[in-house]
Amino acid sequence: MTSDRSSHAAHAQGLLRFIDSSPSPFHVVATGSEMLRGAGFVETDIGVMSNGQPGRHFVARDGALLAWVVPDGATSSTPFRVVGAHTDSPNLRLKPEPTANGFGYRRLGVEVYGGVLLNSWLDRDLGLSGRIAVRGADDTVDQVLVKIDDPILRIPQLAIHLDRDINDKGLLLNKQHHVAPVFGLTSPNASTIWDVVTAAAGVSANDVIGADLMVHDTQSSQLIGVDEEFISAPRLDNQLSCHAALTALSGVSNSDHIAMVVLFDHEEVGSVSATGAATNSLPLLLEAISGDAAGHAAALADSLFVSADNAHATHPNYPERHEPAHHIALNGGPVLKHNANQRYTTDAISEGMFKLAAERAGVSTQAFVNRTDMGCGSTIGPTVSALLGMRALDVGCPQLAMHSCRELAGTNDPWDMTLLLAELLS
Ligand code: ZN
Repeated sequence: MTSDRSSHAAHAQGLLRFIDSSPSPFHVVATGSEMLRGAGFVETDIGVMSNGQPGRHFVARDGALLAWVVPDGATSSTPFRVVGAHTDSPNLRLKPEPTANGFGYRRLGVEVYGGVLLNSWLDRDLGLSGRIAVRGADDTVDQVLVKIDDPILRIPQLAIHLDRDINDKGLLLNKQHHVAPVFGLTSPNASTIWDVVTAAAGVSANDVIGADLMVHDTQSSQLIGVDEEFISAPRLDNQLSCHAALTALSGVSNSDHIAMVVLFDHEEVGSVSATGAATNSLPLLLEAISGDAAGHAAALADSLFVSADNAHATHPNYPERHEPAHHIALNGGPVLKHNANQRYTTDAISEGMFKLAAERAGVSTQAFVNRTDMGCGSTIGPTVSALLGMRALDVGCPQLAMHSCRELAGTNDPWDMTLLLAELLS
């Protein structure tokens, strides 16, 4: 892996394709699985998890993806190097009975998933994606992914003439009434949302027995700015980290560690689910890989968990919201995150390991800490490191507009992050 300008741009272009292929967590898993297969990883069943067999393995389940490389000669006490990220992003999700027609419009009832910047979803051309459950042969429940990139949905904002105070008092949106997307006008023969979904999925309406569907931005991701210094894309938090971690793991050959990437769902809503970071699947998998209890304890004591999740760059229009001594620049390199109250996991030892890895990778880094008088975000880092008793650090690429429908990052940072993660994994 090299650190020249063309590598930065090529990696960024790969990230744009990854994001546009992955409008939902289920698509992140599908896109990520394809990347892994292309790099020689073999899918295994979560029920028969690897017992430390050397080689490249992965497990895909719903919105979670776990992949690992066991080097030749590994023993039960071979330590782990694990990079974790999350596959979900804040968005709007369809209610089980989504029809919310009124005043001549066909509309959809939606729930708000995670910490959405609601205003950013207004006046955009929106598509629909996720998965449906269909009746399989012998009464099995099968999953079919759905991805409709045609702009079939829109949430029109109220005109300023009908909301005169908006620029002085701010935009107030009621989640029940004001963010229901319209997808057509009512008419006797109008298609329903299920007609559209089943046609896109190629299944019969009678066979649909469940759905996890969500709304996404249909504008293609792209490099923007006069010198293309910026990435404009949805879901950079946290698909940027997913893509960097998978790219780094794909390049690992024979490490001294068992190198692993774990991409969990449901981080934006607290991580407590079967496929969220609080699941016991990861402890069980690591134990199964080690094989015996004494060796496993020794392995964990010498292991490292790297929580990769985007960081806040200093906003030029709101510098007062940021810690003045910790300016975070786009294209300034990966950001190590600190919080004395353990919202981030970094400590002096993991900071030292991070800095040595960055030196070896030839990558510049930055250090983030919140203003003391403002609340701090968090990541899957504290949850996973507590579950495993594993030393950890929190790192992420800087970005602006976190949790907007359309986010902004630097073009160079994702490749530098990949180089750093590759060093930390090996
Ligand atoms: Zn995140």
